[in-house]
Amino acid sequence: MNALAATSRNFKNAARILGLDAKIERSLLIPFREIKVECTIPKDDGSLVSYVGFRVQHDNARGPMKGGIRYHPEVDPDEVNALAQLMTWKTAVADIPYGGAKGGIGCTPGDLSLSELERLTRVFAQKIHDLIGTHTDVPAPDMGTNAQTMAWMLDEYSKFHGHSPAVVTGKPIDLGGSLGREAATGRGVVFGTEALLAEYGKSCKGLTFVIQGFGNVGSWAARLIHERGGKVIAVSDITGAVKNPNGLDIDELVKHKESTGSLLNFNGGDNMDPNEVLIHECDVLIPSALGGVLNRENASSVRAKFIVEAANHPTDPEADEILLKKGVIILPDIYANAGGVTVSYFEWVQNIQGFMWDEEKVNNELQRYMTQAFHNIKSMCKTYDCNLRMGAFTLGVNRVARATNLRGYEA
Ligand code: NAD
Repeated sequence: MNALAATSRNFKNAARILGLDAKIERSLLIPFREIKVECTIPKDDGSLVSYVGFRVQHDNARGPMKGGIRYHPEVDPDEVNALAQLMTWKTAVADIPYGGAKGGIGCTPGDLSLSELERLTRVFAQKIHDLIGTHTDVPAPDMGTNAQTMAWMLDEYSKFHGHSPAVVTGKPIDLGGSLGREAATGRGVVFGTEALLAEYGKSCKGLTFVIQGFGNVGSWAARLIHERGGKVIAVSDITGAVKNPNGLDIDELVKHKESTGSLLNFNGGDNMDPNEVLIHECDVLIPSALGGVLNRENASSVRAKFIVEAANHPTDPEADEILLKKGVIILPDIYANAGGVTVSYFEWVQNIQGFMWDEEKVNNELQRYMTQAFHNIKSMCKTYDCNLRMGAFTLGVNRVARATNLRGYEA
């Protein structure tokens, strides 16, 4: 099942549980606007190359649309659509005043030089600048993009609209980025994990963790879990996988990755088959890379007690059913990885106020939002006798439906 079908299925289940009428259900499902643009750039050798860029703006009933921009070869309209919809429910679950959007360019960023990436980002910004804005749609980094990408977008947008720091988030600090933003998604994953574990009388300390993906989200989650005394016993990324049953020294692993460009051949662990990572025995499995990695082929072999969905849509619905039957507790993506967009919201607030918070305030506020959202999800689970995914979906969908109804339908 593709990402869009899976997300729509979760939405429809939530709509049924909430008893939404058909009119509002349909209106919430259809995206507000879908944008597809051609981005042609000269390569460094002078040849021309064309890419397709997407921006799907899903819903703005609760505020400006918000969502990342992903550079990845598998970016396609269906996936961007699903991720935009997920952002609508995610911002509502986190209770921040935004709607949902997502964008991306189908490219392999690793194959492009820095100046090619800059040209590509600027051309993309030129094509969509009229359709984004501080109070319209606020992009942020996602897979394959980073603070530098946002700096180029901000600069290009400002050529058309004047200085507008709040038009993108996840910017470098020197251009109005927020302290704590870089680590925010991983930190939010850890706050969410702690809230979940506390329900079972547990904490990170002494538990075993396996993490797929060692980019922004996965590496920060790993560092913070390690800091709290959790044992990260296996980690993988696109370069391979490494394990140590006594726990990997994550700070050393980060240094090893930085110096060699790979996780492999780390002194403090053994190389392992990356396909084994998701089915490695552990207390908590944290998929932090791609969507759809837990599916009907591998779900029955998963040996984790808890899954924390740091990536977007890592579990397809068939795997979801298999894992629930096995008694695995899943903390869903629309909550678990909401830390990034929550601190993006703090960044936007700081830009609009022209006032910078210190990092402690950012982290404390993030913990407050993540903990409150977890309790709100649990309360929906109790009201509707449902699992955490449906608790999160009913919470988010209900908030968006209420805002939509309050706005009314008169043309
Ligand atoms: P990133 O590009 O920094 O890192 C992605 C990681 O996944 C890299 O380590 C890469 O090597 C690894 N990877 C790619 N293909 C893989 C494969 N086949 N097997 C194992 N590892 C593989 O991206 P990120 O920002 O860390 O995002 C990771 C996930 O988290 C994505 O699903 C993204 O949508 C989601 N997410 C990110 C943010 C954010 O703020 N960055 C916020 C919310 C959700």
